[in-house]
Formats: sequence, structure tokens, C-alpha cells
Amino acid sequence: MTTAFFSHDDFMKHNMGPEHPECPERITAILSHIAETNLEQDLDWVRPEEITRDQLLTVHPEKYLHQLDLMQPTRGRVFTDPDTAMMPDTLRAARLAAGANIQAVDMVMSSQVTNAFVCARPPGHHAERSKSMGFCFYNNVALAAMRALTFHQLDRVAIIDFDVHQGNGTVDIVGGDERILMCSSFQHPFYPHSHVHRQAPNIINAPIEAGCAAIEYRKAVESAWVKKLQDFKPQVILISAGFDGHRLDPMAELNLEVDDYRWLTEMIVSVASDHANDRIISTLEGGYSLKALGESVTAHLEVLNSVY
Ligand SMILES: [Zn+2]
Repeated sequence: MTTAFFSHDDFMKHNMGPEHPECPERITAILSHIAETNLEQDLDWVRPEEITRDQLLTVHPEKYLHQLDLMQPTRGRVFTDPDTAMMPDTLRAARLAAGANIQAVDMVMSSQVTNAFVCARPPGHHAERSKSMGFCFYNNVALAAMRALTFHQLDRVAIIDFDVHQGNGTVDIVGGDERILMCSSFQHPFYPHSHVHRQAPNIINAPIEAGCAAIEYRKAVESAWVKKLQDFKPQVILISAGFDGHRLDPMAELNLEVDDYRWLTEMIVSVASDHANDRIISTLEGGYSLKALGESVTAHLEVLNSVY
């Protein structure tokens, strides 16, 4: 039993422009950091396939999917919002990212692997049911949750989102769905400025002020999430793993270090061990300091891969 690692060269073909922080080099940074460790031979490397239209329809309506298809240019770039651009290879990469999440759920649920990390881009947690935004087109973690609930007939799925930006898209899709408990931490007030307007009993928020010390972050997360997770008894845990709360990240103002991501992962592993038969599927969201991203993902993987 091991950790599956999903990667594909076509994740790097989606390129929103030379100055864009959500860049192909993010994946290269992660892969080259892993290559410097002993992890490389321990992971189960998987090349994903594209998600099917029917699987996308479990979260996104046909009208929205069709709109995206029509917008994708055959050359050059078009912007779907001020931050988010599509180019000829974008939807192929997005279908692979979403497909990797579906496959990761299937592999973990069938006990082929203990847990999985999807090293994909574009990310997903800002994509709402009918709206692309914040570098996201299809909501990868919500698609994984629906796969676990419908295809694998689970009753309780937890989503943990520790990206520095609130996962407005995931809240839009799963808010009010009592089969899902979503625990998230995010800088507040901050982009996408939506969490106070959209609340539901199954959404557990830990808003964190800019400049907050890492120890205060840990306390806030622990007190907001842990009892809720223990009471909910998730059968699988999905992680929206964004590493942009790192002290070096250029896009936000939190002060987390690699050790804090290690701590977060250990806490999640512990809940998964108590209730979910160790089942965790983690998918990459943000993280824009290439150095911090490579180091933080490696620490996250080391903890995931230490579970037997
Ligand atoms: Zn983010």
C-alpha cells in the first residue's frame, strides 16, 4: 500500500501568459523537488485520463460546459475573468485534472493505494457550478466528492481546504449538502470576498487575519475543525491542498512554514485513521512561490506516504 501520485505532461501545456503566477513551472518545481528526495521511488506514479462529459455533469450543468467549449480559442488566449485565461490546451488539461481526481477516488476506494495526491493544474476550488474564476474551470474536489458519494455510495465525505483563498466554488456546489462536511481556513478579509455571504451548516470556516502567526493559525484550525470532523466521522477525506499561505508566497499575507503543512497533513491523517480507513485524496490548488511550493508539497507527500 502506498501513495498514488498523479501527473501528466499536458498539465504544463495550459499557459496563461509569461507573467501569470499560476504557471506551468509550478508543476516543474514540485517534480524537481521530489526528485531530490527518496520519495520518487516510493510513490505510485499514475498518468491520468480525461474526465468524461457525464462525470463533469455530476457538478456542472451542460449549459456551462458548452459555454466553456465555445470560448476555448484555437489560437491565442481569451480571458474568462480578469485573472483566468483559456488557450487551445486549457480544457484538455482541465479534463485531465478532473479525471485524475475521479481516478484517485477509485484507486483509494478500491484499496489499490492508501491515499493519493493529484499534482494537477488548472486548480479547481474557485470554479462554481456555472462560473469559472480565479484560475479554475472545473471544480476538481467537488467532482471527487460526487464520485465518492454516487459511484462508491458513501454517506459522509469531508473536504478540507487549506488554500489561503476561500474555496468559494466548492461552497457554491456543496453548501447545504449534509453528506459533505467542508472545513476550510483562509485569509480574511481577502479574495474572493464571498464567505460571509454564503454560509451553510455543513461549511466550517476558520477565517485568519493577515499577518497571523503560525501558532495562532494552528490554534484557530484545531478549534474550528477537529471536533466537527470527529463528530462527522468521514468515510473519506478530500483535501483542496493550496500552499499559498506560506510565508514566502507572493499572493497572500499568512506566515505558514513547511512544518505547518506537515502538521496540517498529520492532523488530517489522524482523523482519516480514526474514521476513514486512512482514505485521503489530496488535490493541488494554489501555491505561487516555486521554492515554498516544492518544499511544502514534498512535506505533505512525506506524511501521506508514511501511512501504512
Ligand atoms: Zn489560493
